[in-house]
Amino acid sequence: MEIKCNALVLRAVDYKENDKLLTLFTADRGKLTAVCRGVKKASAKLKFAAQPFCFAEYVLAERAGRHTVISAFLHDGFYPLREDIQKFYAASSVLEVCNLLQPEGMEGGALFFHAVQTLGKMCQESEGGLLVEFLLNALALAGYPLRLDGCAKCGNAIKSRSRFSFDTACFYCDECSSENCAPVSEVTYRTLRIAAKAEEGELEADGVKRALRLLKEYFSQKIESKGESLSEYIRLL
Ligand SMILES: [Zn+2]
Repeated sequence: MEIKCNALVLRAVDYKENDKLLTLFTADRGKLTAVCRGVKKASAKLKFAAQPFCFAEYVLAERAGRHTVISAFLHDGFYPLREDIQKFYAASSVLEVCNLLQPEGMEGGALFFHAVQTLGKMCQESEGGLLVEFLLNALALAGYPLRLDGCAKCGNAIKSRSRFSFDTACFYCDECSSENCAPVSEVTYRTLRIAAKAEEGELEADGVKRALRLLKEYFSQKIESKGESLSEYIRLL
Protein backbone atom coordinates (compact mmCIF):
# COMPACT_ATOMS: atom_id res chain seq x y z
CA MET A 1 0.00 0.00 0.00
CA GLU A 2 1.17 3.53 -0.76
CA ILE A 3 0.65 6.47 1.59
CA LYS A 4 1.01 10.12 0.67
CA CYS A 5 1.53 12.49 3.59
CA ASN A 6 2.96 15.84 4.54
CA ALA A 7 5.67 15.23 7.10
CA LEU A 8 8.42 16.90 9.06
CA VAL A 9 11.61 14.94 9.79
CA LEU A 10 12.13 14.96 13.56
CA ARG A 11 15.14 12.63 13.60
CA ALA A 12 17.35 10.85 11.09
CA VAL A 13 19.73 8.15 12.27
CA ASP A 14 22.14 5.96 10.32
CA TYR A 15 20.72 2.57 9.51
CA LYS A 16 22.54 -0.30 7.82
CA GLU A 17 25.27 0.66 5.38
CA ASN A 18 23.61 3.32 3.23
CA ASP A 19 20.19 3.91 4.74
CA LYS A 20 18.67 6.30 7.23
CA LEU A 21 15.88 5.62 9.67
CA LEU A 22 13.59 8.64 9.86
CA THR A 23 11.19 9.70 12.57
CA LEU A 24 8.49 11.49 10.59
CA PHE A 25 5.87 13.74 12.14
CA THR A 26 2.73 13.81 9.99
CA ALA A 27 -0.48 15.76 10.43
CA ASP A 28 -2.89 12.83 10.00
CA ARG A 29 -0.93 9.87 11.30
CA GLY A 30 1.16 11.49 14.00
CA LYS A 31 4.64 10.06 14.39
CA LEU A 32 5.91 7.19 12.30
CA THR A 33 9.21 5.56 11.44
CA ALA A 34 10.32 5.15 7.83
CA VAL A 35 13.42 3.82 6.13
CA CYS A 36 15.02 5.98 3.46
CA ARG A 37 17.22 3.71 1.38
CA GLY A 38 20.57 4.54 -0.18
CA VAL A 39 20.60 8.13 1.07
CA LYS A 40 24.13 8.03 2.47
CA LYS A 41 25.55 7.85 -1.04
CA ALA A 42 26.72 11.25 -2.33
CA SER A 43 24.55 11.08 -5.45
CA ALA A 44 21.35 10.03 -3.65
CA LYS A 45 18.31 11.89 -4.97
CA LEU A 46 16.43 11.70 -1.68
CA LYS A 47 19.32 12.99 0.46
CA PHE A 48 17.34 16.18 1.23
CA ALA A 49 14.41 14.10 2.47
CA ALA A 50 16.51 12.28 5.07
CA GLN A 51 17.59 15.28 7.13
CA PRO A 52 16.06 16.83 10.24
CA PHE A 53 13.90 19.90 9.51
CA CYS A 54 12.92 18.62 6.05
CA PHE A 55 9.24 19.38 5.51
CA ALA A 56 7.99 17.54 2.45
CA GLU A 57 5.23 15.52 0.92
CA TYR A 58 6.39 11.94 1.32
CA VAL A 59 5.19 8.93 -0.59
CA LEU A 60 5.69 5.87 1.58
CA ALA A 61 5.28 2.20 0.89
CA GLU A 62 3.65 0.40 3.78
CA ARG A 63 4.11 -3.29 4.28
CA ALA A 64 3.40 -5.16 7.51
CA GLY A 65 3.46 -1.91 9.46
CA ARG A 66 6.88 -0.87 8.11
CA HIS A 67 7.34 2.23 5.99
CA THR A 68 9.82 2.91 3.21
CA VAL A 69 10.24 6.29 1.53
CA ILE A 70 9.57 6.03 -2.22
CA SER A 71 9.67 9.70 -3.12
CA ALA A 72 9.46 13.14 -1.56
CA PHE A 73 8.51 16.60 -2.76
CA LEU A 74 10.13 19.37 -0.72
CA HIS A 75 7.92 22.07 0.78
CA ASP A 76 10.64 23.72 2.90
CA GLY A 77 14.06 22.70 4.19
CA PHE A 78 14.24 25.68 6.60
CA TYR A 79 17.85 26.17 5.54
CA PRO A 80 18.54 29.40 7.52
CA LEU A 81 18.10 27.31 10.68
CA ARG A 82 21.22 25.33 9.86
CA GLU A 83 23.41 28.40 9.33
CA ASP A 84 23.07 30.01 12.75
CA ILE A 85 23.96 28.01 15.84
CA GLN A 86 21.36 29.64 18.10
CA LYS A 87 18.59 29.21 15.56
CA PHE A 88 19.77 25.63 15.02
CA TYR A 89 19.42 24.67 18.68
CA ALA A 90 16.13 26.54 19.11
CA ALA A 91 14.72 24.76 16.06
CA SER A 92 16.17 21.43 17.24
CA SER A 93 14.32 22.03 20.51
CA VAL A 94 11.06 22.27 18.53
CA LEU A 95 11.76 18.90 16.90
CA GLU A 96 12.84 17.38 20.22
CA VAL A 97 9.68 18.54 21.99
CA CYS A 98 7.48 17.14 19.17
CA ASN A 99 9.31 13.84 19.40
CA LEU A 100 8.87 13.67 23.18
CA LEU A 101 5.26 14.88 23.37
CA GLN A 102 3.74 13.19 20.33
CA PRO A 103 2.78 9.58 21.05
CA GLU A 104 3.33 7.04 18.27
CA GLY A 105 0.23 6.19 16.23
CA MET A 106 -1.86 9.16 17.36
CA GLU A 107 -3.06 12.05 15.21
CA GLY A 108 -1.08 15.21 16.01
CA GLY A 109 -2.48 17.88 13.73
CA ALA A 110 -2.35 20.95 15.97
CA LEU A 111 1.18 20.29 17.24
CA PHE A 112 2.37 19.44 13.72
CA PHE A 113 1.08 22.67 12.19
CA HIS A 114 2.38 24.72 15.07
CA ALA A 115 5.86 23.17 14.71
CA VAL A 116 6.02 23.81 10.95
CA GLN A 117 4.81 27.38 11.43
CA THR A 118 7.33 28.03 14.21
CA LEU A 119 10.26 26.72 12.14
CA GLY A 120 9.23 28.99 9.27
CA LYS A 121 9.05 32.03 11.54
CA MET A 122 12.39 31.17 13.17
CA CYS A 123 14.06 31.52 9.76
CA GLN A 124 12.98 35.17 9.64
CA GLU A 125 12.59 36.40 13.20
CA SER A 126 14.37 36.22 16.53
CA GLU A 127 14.00 32.60 17.66
CA GLY A 128 13.92 32.93 21.48
CA GLY A 129 10.43 34.35 21.93
CA LEU A 130 9.09 31.97 19.28
CA LEU A 131 10.49 29.03 21.23
CA VAL A 132 8.82 30.23 24.45
CA GLU A 133 5.51 30.53 22.56
CA PHE A 134 5.94 27.10 20.97
CA LEU A 135 6.71 25.42 24.31
CA LEU A 136 3.67 27.00 25.97
CA ASN A 137 1.42 25.80 23.16
CA ALA A 138 2.98 22.34 22.94
CA LEU A 139 2.64 21.83 26.69
CA ALA A 140 -0.99 22.99 26.58
CA LEU A 141 -1.76 20.60 23.70
CA ALA A 142 -0.18 17.75 25.67
CA GLY A 143 -2.46 18.50 28.61
CA TYR A 144 0.03 20.50 30.71
CA PRO A 145 -1.09 24.12 30.23
CA LEU A 146 0.40 26.88 32.37
CA ARG A 147 -2.10 29.24 33.97
CA LEU A 148 -1.04 32.80 33.23
CA ASP A 149 -4.14 34.76 34.28
CA GLY A 150 -2.88 36.14 37.58
CA CYS A 151 -2.66 34.65 41.05
CA ALA A 152 -4.45 31.31 41.06
CA LYS A 153 -5.61 31.82 44.67
CA CYS A 154 -6.78 35.44 45.06
CA GLY A 155 -7.21 36.18 41.37
CA ASN A 156 -5.22 39.43 41.49
CA ALA A 157 -2.95 40.44 38.61
CA ILE A 158 0.71 39.74 39.34
CA LYS A 159 2.90 42.82 38.99
CA SER A 160 5.97 41.85 40.97
CA ARG A 161 7.80 38.69 42.02
CA SER A 162 5.58 35.63 42.13
CA ARG A 163 5.87 31.93 42.80
CA PHE A 164 5.20 29.01 40.51
CA SER A 165 3.92 25.61 41.54
CA PHE A 166 5.23 22.79 39.34
CA ASP A 167 2.37 20.63 40.66
CA THR A 168 -0.54 22.89 39.72
CA ALA A 169 1.20 24.82 36.86
CA CYS A 170 -0.13 28.01 38.47
CA PHE A 171 1.47 31.26 39.59
CA TYR A 172 0.74 32.81 42.98
CA CYS A 173 1.26 36.33 44.29
CA ASP A 174 3.62 36.85 47.23
CA GLU A 175 0.80 36.86 49.81
CA CYS A 176 -0.76 33.63 48.58
CA SER A 177 2.30 31.53 47.78
CA SER A 178 3.27 28.53 49.84
CA GLU A 179 6.68 27.11 50.69
CA ASN A 180 6.88 24.50 47.94
CA CYS A 181 6.58 27.00 45.08
CA ALA A 182 9.55 28.24 43.09
CA PRO A 183 10.28 32.00 43.07
CA VAL A 184 9.68 33.66 39.71
CA SER A 185 10.95 37.09 38.70
CA GLU A 186 8.63 39.75 37.32
CA VAL A 187 10.32 39.62 33.90
CA THR A 188 9.88 35.83 33.64
CA TYR A 189 6.14 36.01 34.27
CA ARG A 190 5.74 38.97 31.90
CA THR A 191 7.71 37.17 29.16
CA LEU A 192 5.47 34.11 29.45
CA ARG A 193 2.36 36.31 29.26
CA ILE A 194 3.61 38.17 26.20
CA ALA A 195 4.57 34.90 24.48
CA ALA A 196 1.12 33.49 25.32
CA LYS A 197 -0.47 36.65 23.84
CA ALA A 198 -2.07 37.38 27.21
CA GLU A 199 -0.33 40.75 27.33
CA GLU A 200 1.24 43.11 24.82
CA GLY A 201 4.84 44.22 25.06
CA GLU A 202 8.41 43.78 23.89
CA LEU A 203 10.30 40.66 24.91
CA GLU A 204 13.60 41.12 26.71
CA ALA A 205 16.53 38.75 26.21
CA ASP A 206 16.91 38.18 29.95
CA GLY A 207 13.22 37.39 30.28
CA VAL A 208 13.33 34.90 27.40
CA LYS A 209 16.23 33.05 29.00
CA ARG A 210 14.53 32.93 32.39
CA ALA A 211 11.21 31.84 30.88
CA LEU A 212 12.92 29.05 28.95
CA ARG A 213 14.67 27.86 32.13
CA LEU A 214 11.33 27.67 33.93
CA LEU A 215 9.65 25.88 31.01
CA LYS A 216 12.54 23.41 30.72
CA GLU A 217 12.26 22.57 34.42
CA TYR A 218 8.47 22.17 34.13
CA PHE A 219 8.80 20.15 30.95
CA SER A 220 11.39 17.79 32.45
CA GLN A 221 9.16 17.19 35.49
CA LYS A 222 6.17 16.31 33.31
CA ILE A 223 7.92 14.34 30.57
CA GLU A 224 10.90 12.99 32.52
CA SER A 225 13.33 14.04 29.85
CA LYS A 226 16.09 16.62 30.08
CA GLY A 227 15.53 18.10 26.63
CA GLU A 228 19.13 18.15 25.40
CA SER A 229 18.66 20.66 22.56
CA LEU A 230 16.68 22.96 24.82
CA SER A 231 19.43 22.80 27.46
CA GLU A 232 22.04 23.57 24.82
CA TYR A 233 20.03 26.50 23.46
CA ILE A 234 19.65 28.00 26.95
CA ARG A 235 23.39 27.56 27.53
CA LEU A 236 24.12 29.52 24.34
CA LEU A 237 21.96 32.50 25.35
ZN1 LIG B 1 -2.79 35.94 45.47
